Amino acid sequence: MRVTEFFGENVFNDEVMKNSLPKEVYRSLRKTVDEGEPLDTSIAGAVANAMKDWAVKKGATHYTHWFQPLTNLTAEKHDSFIEPSGDKVIMQLTGKSLIVGEPDASSFPSDGMRATSAARGYTAWDPTSPAFVKEGTLYIPTVFVSYTGETLDKKAPLLKSMTALDLQAKRLLKLFGVECRKVATTVGPEQEYFLIDEDVYLKRKDLILTGRTLFGAPPSRGQEMDDHYFGSLKTRVSEYMRDLDETLWRYGIFAKSKHNEVAPAQHELAPVFTTANVAVDANQLTMELMKKTAQKHHLVCLLHEKPFEGVNGSGKHNNWSLSTDTGINLLDPGDDPEDDPRFMLILACVIAAVDNYQGILRACVASAGNDHRLGANEAPPAIISVYLGDQLGALVDSIVLGRQYVPKKAVPGSIGVPESPIFPIDTTDRNRTSPFAFTGNKFEFRMLGSQASVADPNIVLNTIAAQAFSDAVDALSGAEDFPKACKEYTEKLLKEHYRIIFNYNGYGPDWEPEAERRGLLNNKTTADAVPEFFKQENIDVFVRQGVYTEKELSARANISLEYYRKAINIEALTLAEMMKQEVYPAVNQYIAELCSVAASKRGEKLPCGTDTALAKRLAEMNEALYEAVGKLETDLGEMPAGNLPAAEKMAHVIVPDMDAVRRLSDGMEKLCAAKYWPFPTYTDILYSVK
Ligand code: ADP
Ligand code: MG
Repeated sequence: MRVTEFFGENVFNDEVMKNSLPKEVYRSLRKTVDEGEPLDTSIAGAVANAMKDWAVKKGATHYTHWFQPLTNLTAEKHDSFIEPSGDKVIMQLTGKSLIVGEPDASSFPSDGMRATSAARGYTAWDPTSPAFVKEGTLYIPTVFVSYTGETLDKKAPLLKSMTALDLQAKRLLKLFGVECRKVATTVGPEQEYFLIDEDVYLKRKDLILTGRTLFGAPPSRGQEMDDHYFGSLKTRVSEYMRDLDETLWRYGIFAKSKHNEVAPAQHELAPVFTTANVAVDANQLTMELMKKTAQKHHLVCLLHEKPFEGVNGSGKHNNWSLSTDTGINLLDPGDDPEDDPRFMLILACVIAAVDNYQGILRACVASAGNDHRLGANEAPPAIISVYLGDQLGALVDSIVLGRQYVPKKAVPGSIGVPESPIFPIDTTDRNRTSPFAFTGNKFEFRMLGSQASVADPNIVLNTIAAQAFSDAVDALSGAEDFPKACKEYTEKLLKEHYRIIFNYNGYGPDWEPEAERRGLLNNKTTADAVPEFFKQENIDVFVRQGVYTEKELSARANISLEYYRKAINIEALTLAEMMKQEVYPAVNQYIAELCSVAASKRGEKLPCGTDTALAKRLAEMNEALYEAVGKLETDLGEMPAGNLPAAEKMAHVIVPDMDAVRRLSDGMEKLCAAKYWPFPTYTDILYSVK
């Protein structure tokens, strides 16, 4: 079957709705989806019935409210459609069952927003994201709130942030005489991942329990030959990608690009962008299907941010833009941005927002896994800055520094081979080191970790942009000479926030001291970054834009710290166990063999002391390892109360303790005979897919 025929076959999409719903119902639903009109609940019965009929035809027997608790994952509880009817059953989905569900909320993270005794939580249908059938169940995307109305998920605040942005962007556009019904946030998340063989995976308890290797000596061949990036795909990988694409297409997900990434065994998948809410749901489903499809191929898809030390980790580039229902991309500079006051004002607002709220932008991508990327020399640094590229960079420089601006036009280029075509050369180069880069007609926020939900950065971006737009409207409304006032306000913003712009190498050694001089934040660990959420000015922006209450925000910050400390605790326990139970005894066995060989050469009886140079060295290292594990365990046993102090201890004591253990283990791995080493090595794992 052709892609065009099966694309979206598992989705209750627009076409299906149009064909199966009464006209009035369809029209009313579309108004809610397209224009944000409140949902007319009287249509729920008709929609539920059509959804059920469609799903049953696809083989579904159950339905579930699908939601996104504060775990980065999705949650689901399946109920069947059956209703007793005499001694038979009928298949039923009522309007009420479509609109609300009441899962027990007590076992989801809420940081005390809901006492265990008051377990009630509600899921409520989100009609802006399409329902779909998967493995015999109808999945209904929903938001998740507590009995007292606090949001317990990532979707509700995302939708609120999109509403805030829509409202403020429309106010701003009105100043320029542009009327539209909706301004939507568009998002295209590029997803990086590793693919390894299932057999090696199952031999590494650390991969199974923590998603990453906690130790492992560097392989003789890493990524230094630059031969993996965009390299030709191995057959097993290519078969996996093909299967994955087809699966995603059946769920209406616009999987577009796929290629090998920089590290051995690393790959990337990018979809075509869509509205933020749908993009977030699609990414959650994509991550799940990436893992499930891998199982079918006896592979394991690792979504952890840093599965292997010494080679690149995995991120998720969040491409973000704003577009009107009339088709204008508000971040499109056009050919002459210098003559486009609307674009320049919007650009200045985004720059100001990123500068003002750099702390929460960094905090919203903080996690134990991502700490290994940010600040290491491969992902963007932990310092937030904005890259504008040559064209806009020169334009902004001219405004701020009073330099002359020579417009750079896209010119036809040729590679000097007569047979090859002439093509337009972009006005802006790429910058891979910037955390927040302007890339043509969108910004690319590159700090997000590969396993994180895309919701968080978009909640923050939408909220802070909405605030900047709202400030601009307040400043400019009623201006006598609007063009003049707008120009002055744009210049003022660019001058005030010029420090956040950095068009050079973010990995270079000069950037950190330079950023410090500029007064930019540099929060290297989650424990340092997350407390930004507790600062009053940061609370205020979420409250003012109606995205989080103070209580909801602080709950999220605490949950983030709690997850961080728990993740590191699990890693530390796993490392200690693997060292004591397997590495230490294995090295001792090898030492014994070395000694017995030495002894038998001298005609002595066995066993004997550590009398070869290598045996001696290994024995010293192994005892040091035992001690280092002991220190790690002692430090773990003395955790201070409270999430923040515990997170700080994890960041500044436990992580270095684990590192010390790792150094000794990795050193011994290089010296130990292969047949004694109890785990697959980096070479075994990174080159496991033939
Ligand atoms: P890169 O050069 O960073 O690898 P790609 O071209 O692979 O970039 O991916 C760019 C991503 O940006 C794609 O997912 C694409 O759909 C997305 N994108 C393009 N335009 C927009 C837009 N206006 N809004 C949001 N995302 C966009
Ligand atoms: Mg990218």
